[in-house]
Parts: sequence; structure tokens; C-alpha cells
Amino acid sequence: MTGALALAAASVASAQDAGWEASDTHHLLEWLVLVFVVLVVQRYRGRVRELARTQAALRERDEHLQLALKASSDGYWHYDLGSDSVLYSAPDGSQVVERRVPSTTFRGWVPAEDVGKIEGAIARHLAGQEREIEVEFRLNGEQIRWLQLRGSTVLRADDGRPLRLAGTYRDITAFRRAQRASRIAEEVIESMHEAVAVSNASHEYVTVNPAFEQMTGFCADELAGQPVALLHSDRHEPAFYRRIRTELESSGQWQGELWQRRKNGEELLVALRTSRIVLAPDNERLYVSVLSDITVRRRNEHRLQRLASHDPLTGVGNRNAFLQQLDALIAASDAAAGPLGVLEIDLDRLKQVNENLGHDAGDELLQAVALRLQACLSEGDLLARLGSDEFAIAPISARTPEALVWYAQFLISAFAEPFMVRGRAITVTPSIGISLWPEHGAEARHLVNAADSAMYEAKAAGRNTFRFHSQARYQALRERLDLERRIRQAVERNEFLLVYQPRYSVAAGRVTGFEALLRWRHPERGLVGPDEFVPLLEETGLVVPVGRWVLSEALAQVREWRQRGHDYISVSVNVSQRQIHEGSLHQFIAILLNELGLRGDALELEITESQLMDDPDEAIAMLEDLHRLGLRVAIDDFGTGYSSLAYLRKLPIDILKIDKAFVADVPGDADSSVIIETVLGMARTLKLKVVAEGVENEAQARFLANLGIDEIQGYWYSRPILVENALALLEGRGAKHASLRSVGGPQAG
Ligand code: C2E
Ligand code: CA
Ligand code: CA
Repeated sequence: MTGALALAAASVASAQDAGWEASDTHHLLEWLVLVFVVLVVQRYRGRVRELARTQAALRERDEHLQLALKASSDGYWHYDLGSDSVLYSAPDGSQVVERRVPSTTFRGWVPAEDVGKIEGAIARHLAGQEREIEVEFRLNGEQIRWLQLRGSTVLRADDGRPLRLAGTYRDITAFRRAQRASRIAEEVIESMHEAVAVSNASHEYVTVNPAFEQMTGFCADELAGQPVALLHSDRHEPAFYRRIRTELESSGQWQGELWQRRKNGEELLVALRTSRIVLAPDNERLYVSVLSDITVRRRNEHRLQRLASHDPLTGVGNRNAFLQQLDALIAASDAAAGPLGVLEIDLDRLKQVNENLGHDAGDELLQAVALRLQACLSEGDLLARLGSDEFAIAPISARTPEALVWYAQFLISAFAEPFMVRGRAITVTPSIGISLWPEHGAEARHLVNAADSAMYEAKAAGRNTFRFHSQARYQALRERLDLERRIRQAVERNEFLLVYQPRYSVAAGRVTGFEALLRWRHPERGLVGPDEFVPLLEETGLVVPVGRWVLSEALAQVREWRQRGHDYISVSVNVSQRQIHEGSLHQFIAILLNELGLRGDALELEITESQLMDDPDEAIAMLEDLHRLGLRVAIDDFGTGYSSLAYLRKLPIDILKIDKAFVADVPGDADSSVIIETVLGMARTLKLKVVAEGVENEAQARFLANLGIDEIQGYWYSRPILVENALALLEGRGAKHASLRSVGGPQAG
């Protein structure tokens, strides 16, 4: 026992040396655990020690004096009853000296109550009640010291009367201190909330404390000698436990969370901290684990997290969660893929429902709305309830303003059906505000604020509608959407018409054909030029049906001109890439030509250089098909694209239309002149016809004529004109040049 206690005492001493403080709970725990281990080992070695002690006592009784003398740490004492004096050995430097004092002096060194204890022990011995005197008492002094005193009668008178008592004494101050500390430690550990388990180097339980018993349902006796794997849960792979052991063996500790299994099979999540302890004197290695059950805590954390991120009433996300998720979404988004939209949806009648039917009904309505909104979500869309009657949605797949408009309309239509609350059908309308990332803010909260202000505008606009945060943007968007709707209408209502701009052959001195140019006869705005709507036609694909109409109209017109004797006249029609891509262009034209009894030379198709270059292979295939019909193909706006002249050789084309940008600069600008000359030279070798468009004055016309240009087209000869004026021009009735009535388009001014 002494060895183990000395170890405990030593650990106290070293803890004190190291400036240990009671407030340092971390150290306290470790120290307590250490002492606990010591106690455990003590219990183990208890029987052995008991034996040893008995033997020592026997020996002592027989040879007490010699023993006392030899023992370096113990002192010895005599008490002569006759002289009532005490003799004791005392260390004096390196020597041991004897001192003798009257017992009254001795009594003065000892606190009164301990004097009583000593006298009591001696009295019991002298009375024959106890064979040995054994007493622990204190010595007064600056620091109280504890002595343990043992002894018995060593000299008797002939009549058996005791004359002298003698024995040994020992300073047990350190021991008493350690004993007290270990008692406290044991108490603390036994009553500790945390479960403590001690296992040996073979990972078998040595002992556990009551908290551990309570936590796992196993009692200490059951576990002693059992492998710690008894409590392992199947939730972890064997490799997980192997890793723990490896780490324990290498670093001496492991800390983490793991699942364990109770005796009743229940699983529990524990936070575990295991440290290795090496015990003197035989370097026994033990593992001390402190465990706490965090299953409930973790479950609560989950609940709290859910509470923190969810609206308890509707179960959808709350404002915080929405902001967080939106920020994450923004961080992962590419602005180049289009804007992200945030829609704030405010219910227009919740207040009335609350007032008229009560708050429970209001709550039910909110739940129903949340369900309906959830049904409007696609995978990955964010939905949250921001406040009393406000929801927010970030639809991740609607990445254009148009798509967001569509989505907002879709949401509004989702509210068309009334909500059933307490057996009553309640109609609620939404007011929706929309903001766009990154245009209206880089952060989620800014976007929500922007959507909020837009929502108020939607409310002000009469509810059951939506508004974009930026009115200007919204305005532009609305106009565009309006236009799209109107264009679809225009197609249905036949509001399109063609105007014709003559091409004039310089060599022949006459009009050889007309370019058909599209106009929209807008009921309010009059004739609208193609720059305003052709891009939209192309985007929406409406250019395909409209383009077919243009072709049939233009070909019907050219047939009429030819029937009237102008059989050399052709018509040029602009086609966009989309029409070529659509595939059946040449079949369509073939049918038209056939129906109208026209030869292919009645038609020229104009396609811009850039549209041709979008997909040259497809274009080449289509152009070859068209060629087989006998019609000619012109490259429009030539010079604005980047196709090399050499490349043109491969293209089945017949005509180059030099862009008006070059024509505008001649004859003054040397560069433009050179370009036109070069194009003309090259066209001659490739046997291509060259048309100059945008010829606005006589100087340009003369310059081009001198270079030997084939045809000119432009305001100088004629603006685009209505069909009846075109016929007049052909029959020589109309005036030439700019005096002809010009029609529509931004250039027609
Ligand atoms: P484009 O094919 O280059 O047509 C020539 C444009 O130049 C026409 O504008 C015409 O009015 C204008 N113009 C003619 N002479 C002069 C001039 O001396 N000076 C100036 N500054 N401009 C002149 P418009 O009619 O507004 O057409 C614009 C564009 O719309 C056309 O350019 C063409 O790319 C497209 N477009 C017109 N009609 C159709 C069509 O039926 N289908 C398709 N796909 N596109 C069309
Ligand atoms: Ca053209
Ligand atoms: Ca052009």
C-alpha cells in the first residue's frame, strides 16, 4: 500500500511543484483520474499488501528496537514510566541523536486533544485491551506535522508492572495529505457526472465508475476483464476502432466522438477522451477514458438547428436560412450564366383572414400557402418564410429576366385556386417583388431588401401582380415582352408588309430588281422598321413563319411584275441563319416557284457574312441545294465580317453586296476606296456580281460606276417604296431618285 500511496503523494507533490491551481479543472480532472487509477490498483494489490503488513507487524513486535534503529526513515522512542520522561531519536544533520525530555515538555508539543488520544492508546495498552500502541497525532509548529507512533511494553518489573514503553515513530504528514487527497479524488470520481473507465494494455476493462455503469447499463464487476469491444457499435467500421488503438499506442491519447452500445442494445453517441497512464513501479500501462453521453445533446442540436433554420409554423426555411443559402448560391454562381432572381411574395389578404376568422385560421392559410409554393419549386430552388405573410423564392433555373417574369406569372396563377381553410374557400392574391443578382446587390440581404421594395411597388400597382426592383429595367423588359406579344399578334393579324428598294444596273441603265424589305404596320406607330423587330423574330423563332410569308409575298410580287412584261426583274429576299438552319428552306422555295410558275432566276437570297459564318458547313450545303433551284445567293453587308476572300472561293455564292459603311466613305476616304477596288478585282476573278448598297449621292454613284460596279442600291436612286410605287417606277411613271416617296424604317426619315 505504501508504494501506491507514495506514488499518489508524489503526484500531489509534483502537481504542487508545477504550480498547480485548483481552478485548473483540466489538470484537476487528470490528476483525479490518476489518483483514481492508483486506488484501483491498490484494490488489486490489496490482498498482497495485507499479507505483507501482517508479516511486518509480526517482525516488528519481535524485533522492534533493532528495526527502529535500523530504519532510516523511522525514529524510535522510549517512555520511562518511572521518571515520566520521553527519549526519542531525532535526525541531526547526517547523524541521529537521542534526546530526552520530560513528558510534560512532550505534551506541550502536541495539541491537547491529541495528547488525550496518545494517553488513551497507552492506557488501553496498559490495561491489556490492546497489545500494541498505535496512534496518530499532530505536532504543533508553524506547519502542523503528523506523526504515527507505534510501540508496546518492553520492560516490566518482576511483578509484571510495566516500566518502559518503546517503539517507533514516523512522520506521516505527506501520507496524510495524500490520503486525504485521494479520498477526495475517489469521492469525486465516484460521484462524477462523467463516466470513467480504466482499461489495460490489452484493451480490457479494469474498472469503471458508477456514472459509467449508469450510462452503459453494465456494472463494474460485469465489465472487469471484458474487452472494451463489448460496447462497440456496428455504426463504425472495424478500421475506425483500429485507428483509435493505433493512435493511442503512438500518441498515448485519443479524443473524439463515437457510438457505443448499451447493455440493452441501444446505441449512444459519446464524446470520449482517452489518455494512457504509465504506473510506477512496474510501468503498467493503463488507459483512462472519460466519456460523456452526447446523444441527447446532438439530437437537441439538430432540433435547434432545424428551429434556427426553419419556420416552425410552415416548416419551410426561415429568413436566416434563406439568406445563408442564397449567399452560398451566389458564391457558387456565374453571373455570365444570367441573373439570379429573388422573388418576395406577400399575401394580400392575410390580415383580413386573421381579423375575421382568427389567428388559427391565418396560420392554417399560411401552411396551405407554403405547401402550394413548395409545389411551384424545382429541384434546388430556395423557399423561405421571411416574416408574417411574406415568403421568398430564389428559382435557380430561371436565369433570364424573361424566365423570371414567366415564373412570377406562374406563381400568380398558382394562387388562382382558392385555399380551403376551416371549410371555407379563401382567395388570396400575391404581390411579388423581384430583384436580380448581381444587378441589385452582391449579397443576399441586399437582394431581399430590393425585392421587398419592389414588392411594395407591386402592391401599389394594385396587387396580384409583380414588379422588378429597377423600374427602368422592368420598363425595358416589359416593353420587350409587350413587343413580343404584339409581334405574335402581328403575325396572326397580317400586319406585316413588304417595301421594295430598286437595284439599278449601271451598265444596263435600268432597274434589274428590288430588295424586299420587311415593315410592320403598327396600328398606333405606323410603319416600323425591321431593326426594331427582326432580332426579336430571330430570337423567338418567329422569323421562320414570317420569313416564309416574306418569300411567298415577294415571289408573288415578282411574278406580277414579270407577267406585266418586266420579265428580267428579280426580287432579293433577306434570310436569316435561323431560316437556313431550319432546314426545309429550299423545299419551301421549290414549291413556291413551282406553284407560281417562276424560274429560279426570279429570286436572290441575301444572307449576311456573319450569319453565313455561324455554321459554314450547314450554310454551304443549303446554298448548294438552293443553287440547284437556279436562284442566286448574295452575301449581304460584305466587308463587315471577317471571312477571308480566299474562303469565299469555296462558298457557292453569286453576288457580293458591299456594305453601306464603305460606300458612305467614298470617294473621299482612300481606305474605303481601296477596299472597294480590291473587292471588285477579286469578284471579277471569282466571277461574282458586285452590288453597292447605301449609295446616297451622285458622287458615290459616279465613283462606283467608274470602278465598273455592277449594280447600285440606295437613297440616291430610290428609297424603299411601296409596291404600287415600285410598279410605277418600272413603268416609267414614277420619278426616279430621292423624289420617290420613301417608306418607313429609321433610315427613311
Ligand atoms: P439590309 O439587308 O442591309 O437592308 C438594307 C437596309 O439599308 C434597309 O434598311 C434599307 O432601308 C437601308 N438603306 C437602303 N438605302 C440606303 C441608303 O442610301 N442609306 C442608308 N443609310 N440606308 C439605306 P431596313 O429596311 O431598315 O432593313 C434593315 C435590315 O433589316 C436589313 O438590312 C435586313 O438585314 C433586315 N431585314 C429587312 N427585311 C428583312 C426580311 O424580310 N427578312 C430578314 N431576315 N431580314 C430583313
Ligand atoms: Ca439585304
Ligand atoms: Ca445590307
